[in-house]
Amino acid sequence: MGIVVQKYGGTSVAGVERIKVVAERIAKSAAEGNDMVVVVSAMGKATDELVKLANEISTVPHAREMDMLLSAGERISMALLSMALNEMGHDAVSFTGSQAGIMTDASHTKARIVEVRAHRIEKALAAGRIVIVAGFQGVSSEKDITTLGRGGSDTTAVALAAALNAEVCEIYTDVTGVYTADPRIIPNARKLNEVTYEEMLEMAASGAGVLSLRSVEFARTHGVVIHCRSSFTDQTGTVIKEEVEQVEKALVTAVSQDTSEAMIRVDGVPDRPGVAARIFSDIAKERINVDMIVQNISHDGKTDLTFTMPKEDLIRSGDAIRRIVADIGAEGFSADSDIAKLSLIGAGMKTDPGVAAEMFSALAEAGINIEMISTSSIRISCVVRSMDINRAVTIIHEHFGLAGEPSMASVGQP
Ligand code: ADP
Ligand code: ASP
Ligand code: MG
Repeated sequence: MGIVVQKYGGTSVAGVERIKVVAERIAKSAAEGNDMVVVVSAMGKATDELVKLANEISTVPHAREMDMLLSAGERISMALLSMALNEMGHDAVSFTGSQAGIMTDASHTKARIVEVRAHRIEKALAAGRIVIVAGFQGVSSEKDITTLGRGGSDTTAVALAAALNAEVCEIYTDVTGVYTADPRIIPNARKLNEVTYEEMLEMAASGAGVLSLRSVEFARTHGVVIHCRSSFTDQTGTVIKEEVEQVEKALVTAVSQDTSEAMIRVDGVPDRPGVAARIFSDIAKERINVDMIVQNISHDGKTDLTFTMPKEDLIRSGDAIRRIVADIGAEGFSADSDIAKLSLIGAGMKTDPGVAAEMFSALAEAGINIEMISTSSIRISCVVRSMDINRAVTIIHEHFGLAGEPSMASVGQP
């Protein structure tokens, strides 16, 4: 037996009773002879509540202080879980991200892990202890506490699994695995037994929040096999790895949706070489994560440029966008938050050129207007009105034959 890394999400540790159930599960795995390293999220909606508190004090909270605040959520759950294990007679010890050796860069609220110095964990394991680690946080070279972006506990777990050369990285959540669509929205979504890193990356990047994007990137780079499963049942979940065995190659694998982005339209952009380069390099300097970009055909030497970016960055970056627009001599800009992105993902579409046309036709038949389109070799994404998104996902999921029986996703309390 070797090292097992487990991660429990917010719903799985939402209250004292749940924490005790999680402690039982960890104890069972330890009794099988595994060295246990357990990463926890903050209890229930604790992180959302902390964000709300910060926003009541400041519209744009100082990023360093935000990290100090948000990292507190995971410290509470790690200590309680460790106490629950101690109470059961196990020798458990909890570590903050910093104590666990999670070294990050200095970009507060979305820091990247640059190194894992796991000696303290290794020492505790060698002494026969169960190690509990606060997810979602680390420490910068300036010795400031950082957080890894929302959903970042998944990344902590995968990074530890890679550093410790763990047998497996189990991500316990409130659904029984990765589905063909979000089972909370599509009740007959089907559970996928195996998904490749490539497809999971596209899913995570296009809104399937069951695993954070960074965690999948990390897993792929370091070859960490993820088992995503429910903390409410013993059922096998979904395994995410390099290659999957499939009797028949499916054309498409999943549909996902993203309502977290806003669309920015810059009007009257002077159409000359270098303008797009200038706008987007200035935007990148402001740490605004641009997703889709469309530039219209120009008229009279001017063009329109439309792009999408996270809604949560809008308030912080309004002034910067205004300045960039003025600097390049554009006429102005407008922001539209009532949009959503629908994505269809599948490695099978690499060799089938008809999938995009079929997707657009199905949306047209349902009277759903497509406002922007972007593609990769295994993904097609369309921006639609946010009020149409659930209907659009249902139609596309059905159209491509992804539906199964009404799912037993075992969705825990939201
Ligand atoms: P945790 O707190 O355990 O990290 P999350 O809320 O981050 O849990 O992720 C689990 C949620 O992801 C599910 O409750 C589900 O609504 C959502 N989800 C979105 N897309 C999918 C998908 N394709 N398959 C499974 N769950 C999905
Ligand atoms: N608690 C953090 C969040 O809600 C990190 C996580 O749960 O993964 O985003
Ligand atoms: Mg999560």
